Amino acid sequence: MGHGTLDHVTAQVLVVGSANADLIVAADRRPGGGETVLGGDTRTLPGGKGANTAVAAARLGADVALLGAVGDDANGRLLLGSLRDAGVRTEFVRVVERPTGVAYITVTPDGENSILVSPGANHAVAPDVVDGALEGARVLATSLETPLPTVEAAVSAASAAGVLTMLNLSPVASVGESTLAALDVLLVNEHEAGWLLGESREKESALLDLGPRAAVVTRGARGALVVTADGVTEVSSPKVTPVDTTGAGDAFAGALACELAGGVDLVASVRTAVRFAAVSVTRAGAQPSYPALSELE
Ligand code: ADP
Repeated sequence: MGHGTLDHVTAQVLVVGSANADLIVAADRRPGGGETVLGGDTRTLPGGKGANTAVAAARLGADVALLGAVGDDANGRLLLGSLRDAGVRTEFVRVVERPTGVAYITVTPDGENSILVSPGANHAVAPDVVDGALEGARVLATSLETPLPTVEAAVSAASAAGVLTMLNLSPVASVGESTLAALDVLLVNEHEAGWLLGESREKESALLDLGPRAAVVTRGARGALVVTADGVTEVSSPKVTPVDTTGAGDAFAGALACELAGGVDLVASVRTAVRFAAVSVTRAGAQPSYPALSELE
């Protein structure tokens, strides 16, 4: 398939992942134990790794569905609305009797975020719901804000069905050996890669010893590394002035899933993901910062 022109066939991406309302408040400093600090007004934005990834893929033109859960509350309606506005299919997003997931985000003047996630409804996504959703999918993209047994069942079922499997190991946690071995693409940032490789700080190529067919390591402003049996390929990022890096990793994951579903090879897919994520960091927020396909050209 021709790359560089960014021509897209309809892609079939299933994202198994979280949907959270991001509640963002700026404060001069974060409260310590037993302390109360007054901050600014709360901004409520649609987020969660799964929803962000699905929206990013949709912005690039993928035919994408999210499999997840929200509560029957205002945050759940906000998330469903933002998914639908972006063109993400929501027939596999269940409305359950738990509160929608919330990420409580404190931003201090040094630009640092601290985030407390209440998974809520995301924890109601059980392993048995995945099977029926895989029909017609070319790529499964998942991450670790959904219960691990569900993520592992999704990877296993997708792999058995010949669907390309991609796991963003974020937030970082141990996953089973058989899950890692069933991955076509293990996606990590440098911090997660360091955690996987251990103190020895082995070369990135050692990520393949864990079992995946390929690994992609995102490196912030330096772009990404693609690790395959053929070697390590460096993909550099266009130089941008970052405004807000929230959701950059999810932007990258969604763009990568879209390209792979369209049959683009891994290195070319990573080139597009790097460009897409670079645009996203020049704008505020996660989902609202994701460019449309036309803006990438
Ligand atoms: P995460 O957001 O998961 O910590 P990274 O910081 O590696 O992961 O960012 C993911 C991707 O977002 C990078 O590979 C890059 O494409 C893009 N990105 C992040 N920060 C910047 C930046 N300062 N300038 C350009 N691109 C960036």
